Amino acid sequence: MLATRDGSPFDCGRCGPKDRVQRNCANSLGLSDAAKAVFRYTEGVAEELKAKGAPKVFSLRGLRLYECPLSFITWETREIVRAVYLMEGGRMFFSGGWGDQSAWLVEAFEIFRAENAAFRKDIADGEKAG
Ligand SMILES: [Zn+2]
Repeated sequence: MLATRDGSPFDCGRCGPKDRVQRNCANSLGLSDAAKAVFRYTEGVAEELKAKGAPKVFSLRGLRLYECPLSFITWETREIVRAVYLMEGGRMFFSGGWGDQSAWLVEAFEIFRAENAAFRKDIADGEKAG
């Protein structure tokens, strides 16, 4: 089954039929969680990717996806990212102040800030290195 949601641009229905195979949309290859998103290749993951003939679909800062990002990143994750962007602009997701926000949302915001700082540092270090 393809990942779809009404009106969402994050829909493998927009990946062409040939792309759906090449991009492993909705993990049709049946890769394990460890093989779908890889930071470090273990022997087992490397063997699994080779055995199933899985092509790398997307890479970003050391993360390699072997599944289409449109189906890999869940609707729930996208909703959290949206909430975090809203909060970064100074608005609260739930009514009230920081103390009124859910613990999971505050944690997501902290993770976003840490990842964002690491990303900016990578870019700055890259510019220094030339
Ligand atoms: Zn797709």
